[in-house]
Amino acid sequence: MANMSQSKTPMPVLDPIERGKCFEEVAIGYTEEDAFNEAQRCLNCPTHPCVSGCPVGIDIPGFITKIKENDLEGAKAIINASSSLPAVCGRVCPQENQCEKFCVRGKKGDPVGIGRLERFVADNAKSSNSAKAQPNGKRVAIVGSGPAGLACAGALASKGYAVTVFEALHTPGGVLVYGIPQFRLPKEIVAKEVEQLTKMGVEIVTDCIVGKTVTISELREDYDAVFIGSGAGLPRFMNIEGENLCGVYSANEFLTRVNLMKAYKSDSTTPIMRPKKAVVVGGGNVAMDAARCALRLGADEVSIVYRRSEEELPARKEEVEHAKEEGIIFRLLTNPVSILGENGYVSGIECAVMTLGEPDERGRRKPVDSGARFNLECDCVIMAIGTSPNPLIVRSEPGLETTKHGGIVVDENEKTSLDAVYAGGDAVTGSATVILAMGAGKKAAEEIDKLLS
Ligand code: FAD
Ligand code: SF4
Ligand code: SF4
Repeated sequence: MANMSQSKTPMPVLDPIERGKCFEEVAIGYTEEDAFNEAQRCLNCPTHPCVSGCPVGIDIPGFITKIKENDLEGAKAIINASSSLPAVCGRVCPQENQCEKFCVRGKKGDPVGIGRLERFVADNAKSSNSAKAQPNGKRVAIVGSGPAGLACAGALASKGYAVTVFEALHTPGGVLVYGIPQFRLPKEIVAKEVEQLTKMGVEIVTDCIVGKTVTISELREDYDAVFIGSGAGLPRFMNIEGENLCGVYSANEFLTRVNLMKAYKSDSTTPIMRPKKAVVVGGGNVAMDAARCALRLGADEVSIVYRRSEEELPARKEEVEHAKEEGIIFRLLTNPVSILGENGYVSGIECAVMTLGEPDERGRRKPVDSGARFNLECDCVIMAIGTSPNPLIVRSEPGLETTKHGGIVVDENEKTSLDAVYAGGDAVTGSATVILAMGAGKKAAEEIDKLLS
């Protein structure tokens, strides 16, 4: 019998006060009973509109039906036919703007908790799809081990290609390991996904900066095709006075120190500031993550400063709710105009009070400076206002066409201006989402397969 409750089965979470002091995962995950109850909310609609909202087209009613039948292995097999990282996507996809946005149950009440159910299946099914395929004699190089690179690697390895992933950092995973914190995405989950790929025969070369250690042209001498999934890791700043003071971080640097360099561990020797009063500038997932990390490092007060209103906050809804529960202060319609300092260190931030004007070309109302000013006291400012693709690869490869924002130009088949060189994910689109990057990696793998077979 269908469960006609208008509310999603609640996700068990850690207590907000307790979790604000540690890096344990906040959302604990559905029990078997929770998952069964939530699965019963799905009406198995014949037109399944939810699927059109998933960038990789997972058969959502198909896997939910398997949960109803208590067949988790069957559910996992259905998800794996479209996605190689369900434990990741079930946790971090902005479902409210993707699959769940189109769910018919959302017309009157909450949509089905598709992401929560996907995570339940990924965490609890035992099977893995790491069988080695028959080698086909062709070699593909992949630059970057984020979701785009990993998805491309998995899809090609399953077709028998010899795949080598070249990663600049010492640990594979891209933003999944250096950006998204442990309390949202435990690193063991990413490590497990990477291990599955290595079992399939994918070779991962870390500490290799393509563009410095080796160029794309040199890779092309040894490999039949190349996929570039190098992300968008170059932080942007506001170019306001005081940005060079001690205590100003880019969110990328702050999060890399906390996550990849493990400053979150009590015995860590990674240098990082443990702020008393932190201000994080921005309203996306990156800003939420930086603010919640600053809180967990022991800050007494953490504020998010965002120039639009709550309605325009680009972060996942759940992360905003969790941040609020943990005591993060949201200073909306506020924009920094300068960072104040004393003896070379941050002492505060001067802010403009904003109002909302006419919608811009994307339909979002433009923030307009009202002229009013106020100061906020703080000892740390973290800039989370966006990132751009790193120019390193492009500079070393003059024939690689890019946009004026530094994104690699690709055609509808993810093909770049270079022969047998493909690209996808944030390196092409600028900062986007995990599942979009994966979708691009998968599409590029299909095109590379068409080219080489
Ligand atoms: P990346 O994940 O950036 O991976 C690129 C990899 O390439 C990196 O490992 C990098 O070291 C490597 N690389 C770069 N240059 C070179 C080079 N020259 N040679 C070799 N290797 C190189 N998305 C969501 O869907 N949900 C979220 O909740 C979410 N939260 C986020 C939180 C943070 C803090 C950040 C920063 C991003 C978040 N995103 C989220 C966005 C999402 O993580 C990205 O869109 C996604 O990771 C892009 O994948 P990618 O593979 O294109 O790039
Ligand atoms: Fe939804 Fe993301 Fe899963 Fe697709 S991958 S069904 S968008 S949670
Ligand atoms: Fe189930 Fe919602 Fe998809 Fe319908 S739209 S099949 S109720 S998840």
